[in-house]
Amino acid sequence: MSVSLFNTATRTIEAFKPLDPAGRMVKMYTCGPTVYNFAHIGNFRAYIFEDLLQRHLEARGFEVERVMNLTDVDDKTIAGCKKCGVPLADFTAKFKAAFFEDLQALRIKPAAHYPAATAPEYIARMIEMIQTLQSQDVSYKADDGSVYFRIAKFPRYGQLAHLNLDELRPSGRIQNDEYEKEAIGDFALWKAWNADDGDVWWESPWGRGRPGWHIECSAMATALLGPELDIHCGGVDNIFPHHEAEIAQSECVTGRHFSRYWLHCAHLMVEGQKMAKSAGNFYTLRDLLEKGYTGREIRYVLLSVHYRLPLNFTLSGLDAARTALVRIDAWLERLGALAGTVPAAETAAEPAMSRFLEALDEDLNISGALGQLFDWIRDSNRAMDAGQLTPAAAARTLADFAVLNSILEIDADKASIPDAVLGLVQERQAAREGKDWGRSDQLRDAVAALGWQVKDTKQGPQITRI
Ligand code: AMP
Ligand code: ZN
Repeated sequence: MSVSLFNTATRTIEAFKPLDPAGRMVKMYTCGPTVYNFAHIGNFRAYIFEDLLQRHLEARGFEVERVMNLTDVDDKTIAGCKKCGVPLADFTAKFKAAFFEDLQALRIKPAAHYPAATAPEYIARMIEMIQTLQSQDVSYKADDGSVYFRIAKFPRYGQLAHLNLDELRPSGRIQNDEYEKEAIGDFALWKAWNADDGDVWWESPWGRGRPGWHIECSAMATALLGPELDIHCGGVDNIFPHHEAEIAQSECVTGRHFSRYWLHCAHLMVEGQKMAKSAGNFYTLRDLLEKGYTGREIRYVLLSVHYRLPLNFTLSGLDAARTALVRIDAWLERLGALAGTVPAAETAAEPAMSRFLEALDEDLNISGALGQLFDWIRDSNRAMDAGQLTPAAAARTLADFAVLNSILEIDADKASIPDAVLGLVQERQAAREGKDWGRSDQLRDAVAALGWQVKDTKQGPQITRI
């Protein structure tokens, strides 16, 4: 059985086949948060869809190396630090830490890498990439010192989004706000410093300035995963212009096909509108935790609608998630009481479990998969009512559920690794990405003090008891 995924690039469901000749390693890049505020749960819908994708691929035997970047310099972060009167790094540090806590509460598996755009090695790489683009004549410097990508030189621009961009390619120079661009669709690779940027700037061959958002992702993705990715994800709002721009820049620099599969989730909606900071119709995770909902319940809601369908967020949806989880908990408790310490029966895996995995194989059909889970719960409860389930069969059911739960992560008892340890490990990952080895060692010691050890592997940190 192979995994099939809907590829935005081709608008078709395709069998998934990674670049790795052994068919095992998967390189996956996921656009991360802009750390100027607490992420809202719309953002987390995207990250939970990516988590489901990673976990399902792993359940099917793939090894996923996932990168999630942190956008810690852009207009919003600069405006935020100015407003608070603190340096940019101090301003974003608070929201980075909050983000890692939120990932933890939502049981999202840590990525292997969390690169931050402002890390010196990535800024250097962005500049290097822009220099290459300049040498190819696909970009140009405007009078104010900003550098733009010339979309007219990349005929495939618009292909991912299936847009006809003729109207974005007028000839002759046009004036766009304060910057001068040749065509309205040309996007900034490098933004020249202006007074609003305060002390946020880097030296470059084009003068002081800062990178554009799109080149940040191209630089971090190719630095960590190489010129060719297997999967690139984000929300549908990222398709254009962000991902289109990433393709144009990366492919001009590397000469390679940037990503084979492009996956995008539909929006989380509130009363028919996209949940967004700018619309003011958002909940942060913290808002919902304060109302008494748990991370597990919120995870369930965000997970339970197919990623390509809009998800209408309501508090009553959270209440329904609570009811569904109570049902799962009661079933597991009942199975646990029946199984006691009896070893699992050596029978073939429960058919419902295979059907659950097969549903997810079909472009992450979560509704079908959860349908299988609840049918399984109903049938096994009936068997227990009738006294027809042996302790060994109950133990077998629990073992099968553990496989399924390695994807869903919705069990009540996930306390094998304490939250505090997971939080420290996530923070250590971020310190390592920033090459802050002193802080990373301190965090390793803090993890050890809690009785755990962390090992760094290509797939990310592995945590075991000391
Ligand atoms: P941002 O911090 O705005 O760059 O967004 C981070 C990620 O969240 C991106 O992948 C966006 O596509 C995604 N995103 C933002 N708003 C929503 C929403 N309402 N529903 C689903 N995903 C979203
Ligand atoms: Zn991105």
